[in-house]
Amino acid sequence: MSRVAITRVGTDVVAAFATAMEQAGCVGLIQPGQRVLVKPNWNACAVAGSTKLAVVLAACRWAQAQGAGEVLVGEGPVPVGRERIDSYLAELGALAALAEIGVGFVLFDEAEHVLFRDTPDLPPEIGIARLALECDVLINLPMLKVHSCCLTTLCVKNLKGCLRPVDKMAFHRLGLLPAVVALNRLIPSQINVIDALEAMAGDHNSGRLVPLGLLIASRDRVAADAVGSALIGLPSGKVPLLKLAAAAGLGEHCVEALEIVGEALVPQRLELPQDALKRHYPNLDIQDEGACSACRAALMDGLFTAGAERQVTQIALGAHSTVAAGALVLGNCLSSYFPHRAHVPGCPPVGKAVARALAGKE
Ligand code: SF4
Repeated sequence: MSRVAITRVGTDVVAAFATAMEQAGCVGLIQPGQRVLVKPNWNACAVAGSTKLAVVLAACRWAQAQGAGEVLVGEGPVPVGRERIDSYLAELGALAALAEIGVGFVLFDEAEHVLFRDTPDLPPEIGIARLALECDVLINLPMLKVHSCCLTTLCVKNLKGCLRPVDKMAFHRLGLLPAVVALNRLIPSQINVIDALEAMAGDHNSGRLVPLGLLIASRDRVAADAVGSALIGLPSGKVPLLKLAAAAGLGEHCVEALEIVGEALVPQRLELPQDALKRHYPNLDIQDEGACSACRAALMDGLFTAGAERQVTQIALGAHSTVAAGALVLGNCLSSYFPHRAHVPGCPPVGKAVARALAGKE
């Protein structure tokens, strides 16, 4: 039976992390001299939607105390360019704080990748950061957040950051959920901790922060995610990604089948992106038959960015959508409509361009 710890965090995050590791049965997983990789969710989009630096530092210090020979933090943010990544890391205060405790940071985009070809459910070729595959122990350390495509973005989804930048969009085009599951089958993830000091509701980058003051920890990544999802109002069976991951043998997605230790699991109802969208735009007509997750994500980005400036009331995306006469058309799947409709090209279109089009600016 998989065990999941729900651990209360007080003022001492380092002590709370150590308690979580004891409760989750993770003590002893790191052998003296081993190389440990800590993989936070530092996607370079928004500091508020990132694994807290204090939790990452606590993970590193715990690994050092366990006798690790080398501890590294690694991440491959969304492809926003080196300048933006540098300013994001500076805003986090990450590099100096890590250096102070003798931990290096590896930007996966600039590190070596191992290539995998013709793997079922994956693009014809992908590259995974060599460090993620060859470290002795990986501490998978996302933040507790909702997500427009996966409902929650936690330990299973977090490993997508180990891909080459070019592979990330290919995952969306192919089918994000089965591809993420297939990726997880390639990357061991021995220690899984969700930073739930705060949870992000409404959107995974620009949503509302809800203080919870918890860590969720398990050796089983699917079980950790199942508890994290249940904690924000998504009970067992409601998160398709976790059902798929469980079916692939990656762990237990049914909360009722878990041993939960520490704090009681008290579900809260956090707003999902789809609900936030309906609340913000009650009269918006979205036709999205056949749209893949990349186009949906671009639309969500565009809508949240455009905010009150939005003029458009009808939107079409996806190859099988009905396209109304006044609809804004998104994505190359519907390029046959481009000559006659306002449109944003791309596969997927860029969120900022979608925002401008929604505001009637192009
Ligand atoms: S245009 Fe949009 S829906 Fe079509 S394949 Fe590209 S990203 Fe997917």
